[in-house]
Amino acid sequence: VILSVVRRSHSHPTAEEVYSEAKAVLPSLSLGTVYRNLRLLAGDGQIREVLLGGSSARFDGTIEDHEHFICTNCSKITDIEPTISTPKSESLERQIPDSVVSTYKLTYFGLCPDCSKLRK
Ligand SMILES: [Zn+2]
Ligand SMILES: [Zn+2]
Repeated sequence: VILSVVRRSHSHPTAEEVYSEAKAVLPSLSLGTVYRNLRLLAGDGQIREVLLGGSSARFDGTIEDHEHFICTNCSKITDIEPTISTPKSESLERQIPDSVVSTYKLTYFGLCPDCSKLRK
């Protein structure tokens, strides 16, 4: 149930949001169980845990490589196709000597279409 809630959602839900949706199907569910299962699923690579600057971790059912665009006005998170070719980890490691780079994150900030319309 938890996996399907995250996969169905395109809003990058927090654990609390997953909990309130899953609870409609499984009334006996506890928030602790949701947290534990989200961590397990993320550890398994079935979902992704995304840290997007907010206070709580968000979970993403899209596991293919993609970037995020965050609206600074309404906090809406949009998935976007990778726009810049992934820097080779060797070239990153040259910039950070003695390191082993495993991943990187790129996040764009700005105004989503709805909010940019309001500003005009
Ligand atoms: Zn917005
Ligand atoms: Zn995403």
